[in-house]
Amino acid sequence: MKKKYSIFSLVKNSLSDNQNWKKMWRNPEPRKFYDVIIVGGGGHGLGTAYYLAKEHGLKNIAVIEKGWLGGGNTGRNTTIIRSNYLWDESAHLYEHSLKLWENLSSELNYNIMFSQRGVLNLAHNEHDVKEIRRRVSANKLNGIDSEWVDPKQIKKLVPIMNTENCRYPVLGASYQPRAGVARHDAVAWGYAMRADELGVDIIQNCEVKKIRTAKGKVQGVETSKGFIRSNRVGVVASGHTSVLAATARIKLPLQSKALQALVSEPIKPVINTVVMSNAVHAYVSQSDKGELVIGAGTDGYNSYTQRGGYNIIEDTIRAIVELYPIFGKMKMLRQWGGIVDITPDASPILSKCEVEGLGQDSP
Ligand SMILES: Cc1cc2nc3c(=O)[nH]c(=O)nc-3n(C[C@H](O)[C@H](O)[C@H](O)COP(=O)(O)OP(=O)(O)OC[C@H]3O[C@@H](n4cnc5c(N)ncnc54)[C@H](O)[C@@H]3O)c2cc1C
Repeated sequence: MKKKYSIFSLVKNSLSDNQNWKKMWRNPEPRKFYDVIIVGGGGHGLGTAYYLAKEHGLKNIAVIEKGWLGGGNTGRNTTIIRSNYLWDESAHLYEHSLKLWENLSSELNYNIMFSQRGVLNLAHNEHDVKEIRRRVSANKLNGIDSEWVDPKQIKKLVPIMNTENCRYPVLGASYQPRAGVARHDAVAWGYAMRADELGVDIIQNCEVKKIRTAKGKVQGVETSKGFIRSNRVGVVASGHTSVLAATARIKLPLQSKALQALVSEPIKPVINTVVMSNAVHAYVSQSDKGELVIGAGTDGYNSYTQRGGYNIIEDTIRAIVELYPIFGKMKMLRQWGGIVDITPDASPILSKCEVEGLGQDSP
C-alpha cells in the first residue's frame, strides 16, 4: 500500500510528536534464493530494483547493501543533474534520466526537491570555447536544451561572478536551463520505500564478498550473512565495481579514485543556478538551506578511502574565491569524499558480460 505524504499526515503525526510514523521500509532477513540480486543500495541499485518490480513484474528481488542506504556516492554527491553530454550514447542515456527526474517526485509520491535552476559549464580558454561550443551543437542535434552564453549573459545569470580579473578569465559557457539539483538522500529513500512496497527485500549491513560462478554462469553471492542463491546478479556498487567483478574473474577498465565535496555555512541566496568549471575543477550551487555546495576534483591516484587529498580542496577553494570574491571570508562546515569508478571515456559501463546472468552498471 502506497504510504501517502500529505498535509493531513503531517498534521496527524505532529500531534503525536512524530512518534507514530510507519517505518519507510522493512528490515527483512535474506531468503535463500532470489530471482534477482542487486548488489548496492545507492540510487542506481534501488532504482533498478524498483523498475524491475514495477515495469517488469519481477516479484522476488533483493537489494544487498554493505552499509546503509545512500551511504555511498548517492548521499555524497553535489546533486547536479544534467544531460548536456557530448557523446550520442551518453546524451540519450542522461536525457532519458533527466526526463525521469522531471516526474520523479510524483512517481514516488515523495518530494525529492528537484529544482531545475539551470547549469552553466564555463569556458576559460580557446580550447574550452571550441570544445563547449561543439558540445552545445551536439546537444542541439540530440534534441537537448543547450545554448552558448557570452560573459555578459553569464554576469546577468550570476552577478557575483568575477569573469575578467582572474587567472582563468571566463570567455563564455554552455547553459542548460532544464538541468538542476535534487535532494540526494530523498532519491534513495523514495526508491527504497516504493521498491519495498512492491515486495523488494532491502538488506542492509550485509557485504557481498564474492560473486560465485560455475561453468560461466552466476550461482549467487557469498555475503557476510551467508550464501544467497540467484541466477541473475546486478552489480551496482559504485567505487567497488571492479573489486566485485574481479571475484567473478572479470577485469574492468576502471580507475577508482576519491572525489571530494564541501559545504559552507548557510548564507542568504546569492546564486540561483549551478556553475561548473572543468578547467579549474570547481562546481558550485546553493542549497535550499543556503549552504554553498562545492564540488572538487579527483585525487591523482587510485584509492578506496572516502576522503581525498587536502591539496585538491585547497585548489578548489582557491578557484572558487577567484571566481566569486565575495566567498573569501566564508567558513566551510563539512568536507567529505566518495569513491568514483572512472571509465576511460567517462561514459558508464552498462551491460551484460561474459558470465551468464551477471550485469554491471558502473556510473
Ligand atoms: C563528491 C562527489 C560528487 C559527485 N557529484 C555528482 C554530481 O553533482 N552529479 C552527478 O550526476 N554525479 C555526481 N557524483 C557521482 C554520483 O554520486 C554517482 O554516479 C552515483 O551516486 C552513483 O550511484 P550508485 O547507486 O551507482 O552508487 P552508490 O550510491 O555509491 O551506491 C553503491 C553502493 O554499493 C555499496 N557496496 C559497495 N560494495 C559493496 C559490497 N561488496 N556489498 C554490498 N554493497 C556494496 C556501497 O556501500 C554503496 O552504498 C559525485 C560523486 C562524488 C563522490
